[in-house]
Amino acid sequence: MKVEPVAVIGAGPAGLAAAMQLARMGISARLLERADPGGLLLNAHWVENYPGFPDGLSGPDLVRLMRRHAESFGAVLTKDEIVSIVDEDKVFRIKGRARNYLARRIVLASGTKARGPAGCEIPPEMEGRIHTEVVALREASGLRIAVVGAGDAAFDYAIGLSERNDVTLLKRSAGVRCLSLLRERAAKNACIDIRNHVNVLRLAPVPSGGASVCGTWKGSDFRLDVDAVIFAVGRDPETGCLSRELLENIPVLRASGRLFPAGDIHNGLCRQASIAAGDGIRAAMEIHRLMKEAGE
Ligand SMILES: Cc1cc2nc3c(=O)[nH]c(=O)nc-3n(C[C@H](O)[C@H](O)[C@H](O)COP(=O)(O)OP(=O)(O)OC[C@H]3O[C@@H](n4cnc5c(N)ncnc54)[C@H](O)[C@@H]3O)c2cc1C
Repeated sequence: MKVEPVAVIGAGPAGLAAAMQLARMGISARLLERADPGGLLLNAHWVENYPGFPDGLSGPDLVRLMRRHAESFGAVLTKDEIVSIVDEDKVFRIKGRARNYLARRIVLASGTKARGPAGCEIPPEMEGRIHTEVVALREASGLRIAVVGAGDAAFDYAIGLSERNDVTLLKRSAGVRCLSLLRERAAKNACIDIRNHVNVLRLAPVPSGGASVCGTWKGSDFRLDVDAVIFAVGRDPETGCLSRELLENIPVLRASGRLFPAGDIHNGLCRQASIAAGDGIRAAMEIHRLMKEAGE
């Protein structure tokens, strides 16, 4: 099997930027993505802090440009979900659902995964009806939607969905963890009902196919019947394809110039598309330098 000089895992902003810069520098990289390219950015209703776009643009539109940009230099995407990566004799053995790959270096741009609705009881038959991202509801209209959360993502989801739906934003406290700008926009929006001090404890199916959101509100019982529920209650690094050994070894592999985490996977609270893209470019440039030094 051919050993690729570089494999990029994930085609969100970090992976697309890395693939673009690698291709631009003449390095052929295998860009592996399990879903549609664009990653979490596909959920963003309106991006107004990506340098170069003073009027803002939607997340999906920015993704289209990023993808076109990477492809314009010859980056090619392979659709596959990576299930495991093993480091053997200075080569990474990458196992995908469709096929296997070998690579000398990896840009790990697999982003984050949504936290589950901790403390909320969800009957098994409802699992598939509960969302943690907005992509599946993008075309929804005329629905009653509950968004649970108090951060940037919860407010962005509420504002985007309110263009064609009635949204109730359920928050545990009166405080917010989002930009004041988003809070003000949501507060002024007649299609968003913000309910503070709601503790969501249980979801129950309703005959229409939606959900009954049950819990407490200021100590009393609370119940809200909706067509769809989105939990936006935090995200953790997506490292599912790494063995525990590889995960613990990341700092060593990074220092030896073989594995480069890029984007949200290692950016803590600084999870922004522009930072992720910059990370991808940096990883690609470091790889280029190392390959030149090694005469590869
Ligand atoms: C609602 C919302 C609004 C936002 N608004 C803004 C904004 O206005 N401005 C801004 O700068 N940022 C915004 N962001 C944040 C921005 O979307 C992220 O910072 C950015 O997408 C992170 O890029 P990334 O490439 O690191 O990870 P991701 O975008 O998460 O991409 C990771 C990719 O890796 C893939 N992947 C993971 N595991 C595997 C595997 N095992 N095999 C194959 N593929 C895999 C995933 O499918 C995904 O496509 C917003 C986010 C949300 C949720």
